Amino acid sequence: ANRGLPAIAPSKSGSTQNMAANIRVVVRVRPLNEKEMELNNRIVVDVVDDKMLVFDPKEEVRPFFYQGVQQPNKNFLKRANKELKFVFDNVCGQSATNKDVFELTTKDILASLMEGYNCSVFVYGATGAGKTFTMIGNNEHPGITYLTMEHLFYTINSFEKDREFDIGVSYIEVYNENVYDLLKPSRTPLQLREDSKYGVMVAGLTLNSIKTARELLNMLENGNKNRTQHPTDANAESSRSHAVFQVYVKMRYKTSSQLRIVKLSMIDLAGSERASATGCVGERFKEGANINKSLLSLGNCINRLADGGSYIPYRDSKLTRLLKDSLGGNCKTVMIANVSPSSVSYEDTYNTLKYAARANKIQLSIKKNIVDGDMRMSQYVKVIEELKKKVKEL
Ligand code: ADP
Ligand code: MG
Repeated sequence: ANRGLPAIAPSKSGSTQNMAANIRVVVRVRPLNEKEMELNNRIVVDVVDDKMLVFDPKEEVRPFFYQGVQQPNKNFLKRANKELKFVFDNVCGQSATNKDVFELTTKDILASLMEGYNCSVFVYGATGAGKTFTMIGNNEHPGITYLTMEHLFYTINSFEKDREFDIGVSYIEVYNENVYDLLKPSRTPLQLREDSKYGVMVAGLTLNSIKTARELLNMLENGNKNRTQHPTDANAESSRSHAVFQVYVKMRYKTSSQLRIVKLSMIDLAGSERASATGCVGERFKEGANINKSLLSLGNCINRLADGGSYIPYRDSKLTRLLKDSLGGNCKTVMIANVSPSSVSYEDTYNTLKYAARANKIQLSIKKNIVDGDMRMSQYVKVIEELKKKVKEL
């Protein structure tokens, strides 16, 4: 929730030169789970407002509520106290719903999609941090994939006077640097191709035509059953693969019969925890190595794009090759970094925030808005200056 601080909207339109404006980074801090509550772990993330958080705060964090009940936070004295301030495009605290996250992330990029630009959305974070909850959710709290599709169908309606639409969806898994079709039970690795009209294509991939967002849910559920799951010491249900949901929007203009195809990619990334931390050996370790390779090169590509670099190392991994036509240029990219507030995940949370901070060049976009001159902006200027230094050091 916004605690009376000014809403600073990073510049969006009219700045296609500025790649930073095309990458949006949102951090979501999930509520403590029951186990973390029982252990009475200390809370290492303090959500200050809708843009700022403090990692490993010195002072006791604001009262923490679990299922509406205020919880004591006894262990606050034994702190390492990194006291690191982070500013992102948005920070969502424990009370944020999937709907709130949707409003702050993918809702706006649909306009870009309708203008003809590919878009991509990532959920990043350690296993158990809330990636799949954010992306898929459950019946009670549908995730941003569903909410985005619902909004896409709604958006399309308003364009139907002059365009005809055809929506096709695919669901892919990238596992051990191989690409699999989650909508097919068979596990044959598929090849990537580049097509002049469709962009990057996966040869032989199922493309399901859908007419409503509801149809999508069954499809995602079935697809998820085909995902690679292996128990590891860290988490019995950890997912060691990247799940890539892609929506192809075919638009045919009624006046010119011109055809345009745009793509929205929504990616539930594999757990970002280090392979060594999960005590993996052999095949599991190889998975870990490949997962890190994909996450690392995704990070590299996004950093180069945010810096305005000309050479983007897409070819370094399967994931970045697959998303080559959906990252950079006028493509809108949203990175949602999921973290747990508990000290149990101290290292993972710290690493995730660093990864997100590297992708986030908000200082460029915020500065422009500062001209409007709200008194309280000055506090951001200071924090941003500190952050600039820190990001360089990371
Ligand atoms: P990941 O996909 O990152 O491994 P999950 O999304 O599966 O993590 O989340 C781990 C557990 O925490 C799940 O049981 C999930 O329902 C729960 N959870 C995650 N985020 C939230 C949230 N914002 N609110 C309530 N429960 C959550
Ligand atoms: Mg998951």
